Amino acid sequence: MSNRTLFLTNELYKYMISSSVREPDVLNQLRRETAHDPMSAMQISPEQGQFMALLIKLLKATKAIEIGVYTGYSSLCIALALPPNGKLIACDVNEDWTSIARRYWGKAGVSEKIDLHLAPGIETLDHLILNGGANSYDFIFIDADKKNYDSYYERAINLLRPGGIIVIDNVFWLGKVTNHKIIDEDTNAIQYLNKKLHNDQRIDLSMLPIGDGLTLAMKR
Ligand code: SAM
Ligand code: CA
Repeated sequence: MSNRTLFLTNELYKYMISSSVREPDVLNQLRRETAHDPMSAMQISPEQGQFMALLIKLLKATKAIEIGVYTGYSSLCIALALPPNGKLIACDVNEDWTSIARRYWGKAGVSEKIDLHLAPGIETLDHLILNGGANSYDFIFIDADKKNYDSYYERAINLLRPGGIIVIDNVFWLGKVTNHKIIDEDTNAIQYLNKKLHNDQRIDLSMLPIGDGLTLAMKR
């Protein structure tokens, strides 16, 4: 028995994956193709994708936003979990990576559910706010450039409906967040947001040791 989160040994991690992950073929293919890319560590893990899909279903979400698409693994998890009338606004700036994403959205038959916005995430979120999107989204996943995390979070709070959830990735930043002497723009931005959320009365909060640390913030 333990009163703290257990340390995951390789053995226990493998056990968790083998007893719970049900990765659809199309997601598995995308993961294998992305593994050849030097930046493939940016992709979320299958257990995280499955967890986020469960959240979408729990929320009965129909309107979702993702900031940071890369080759499309997390967006595909989200889109597959959305109902047929669901919509995902996917934000990224990179045409090459998102062309792989588009190909897999097509293969999986979910292209119709996804609107890709190739523009800086802040611009896309501001555009959604200006066009009456406030208080209407069920689920927002933040996983783009870390220095803009707080800007994404503030816009996400605005766009989210009460009871909706913001999911923020990499809140452990490979453990660097525990180093308070570190001077590094990305680490400091994540440390700032983690601290701010702890005191933010606009949300209910949970920080989970999934992947590289995952924060759930439910708008009150
Ligand atoms: N969620 C993805 C997955 O699971 O496969 C990984 C996303 S990766 C960590 C971060 C992405 O953010 C990259 O594809 C990058 O092009 C994108 N990005 C970087 N700066 C951005 C910006 N200012 N606006 C939108 N996207 C940006
Ligand atoms: Ca990430």
